[in-house]
Amino acid sequence: MADVVKIEDRSLCAECGGQCCKKCGCDLFISDIEKPEYDYINKLLDSGRVSIVSRIYVLPLKNGSYAINPFLHLRTRNIDREAIDLFSLKKTCASLEDDGCFWDLYHRPSGATHIKPSKNAAGEFTCKPTLDHKAEIKKWEKYQKLLAKIVKERTGNTVYEQLRLDVIKTFNDILNRNFEGVSKEALEEFEEIFPVLKSRYADEYKIAQETYKKQNPLLLRIHRQ
Ligand code: SF4
Ligand code: SF4
Repeated sequence: MADVVKIEDRSLCAECGGQCCKKCGCDLFISDIEKPEYDYINKLLDSGRVSIVSRIYVLPLKNGSYAINPFLHLRTRNIDREAIDLFSLKKTCASLEDDGCFWDLYHRPSGATHIKPSKNAAGEFTCKPTLDHKAEIKKWEKYQKLLAKIVKERTGNTVYEQLRLDVIKTFNDILNRNFEGVSKEALEEFEEIFPVLKSRYADEYKIAQETYKKQNPLLLRIHRQ
């Protein structure tokens, strides 16, 4: 594990109540991984505390739709999520315990420990990153094939197919209002990408809506009026 400066302020985070951890698990940087290789990553996934997730890059197309490119990396697992979690509504981190984070400071992912907890004079939390988070995530670039291989082995699907299935599951969660453990901030973040997903996966969204209406006959009657 690389020697990176890890920051912690337990009293300030306790005062805040772990808001960032309630929004979502934190990202693992390459510097957090002892050996970024097949066996080690599988061991992390098997621990139940880490997932392979994807950062979605969106490219608007001339026809008004979007191309979607998933970029794979590791993140601490969210409550009720799987080892492969390419897209979902972000939820509270499964490692957030009553007295704070499960991980000791040394092993805690740098996606959390490079954030300097702070508060301004008005009492608002103004925690700031001390590293370029995007640049750190970009360092996963050379492990894309390895992570995609693990996705395939664990789900039987390619990254794009698994992403599509995860998006369908998220459409169902949205329509059925499965928002338990989903923070307001996570929902607002989802709202930003929702129009893109509805456009890129238009057929899938239609099917999810039809399924929802069939399962909710009252709504179907209203819909027909
Ligand atoms: S880093 Fe900031 S937002 Fe996160 S738990 Fe600590 S004080 Fe709260
Ligand atoms: S692993 Fe710890 S620091 Fe990171 S989001 Fe979870 S509870 Fe917070």
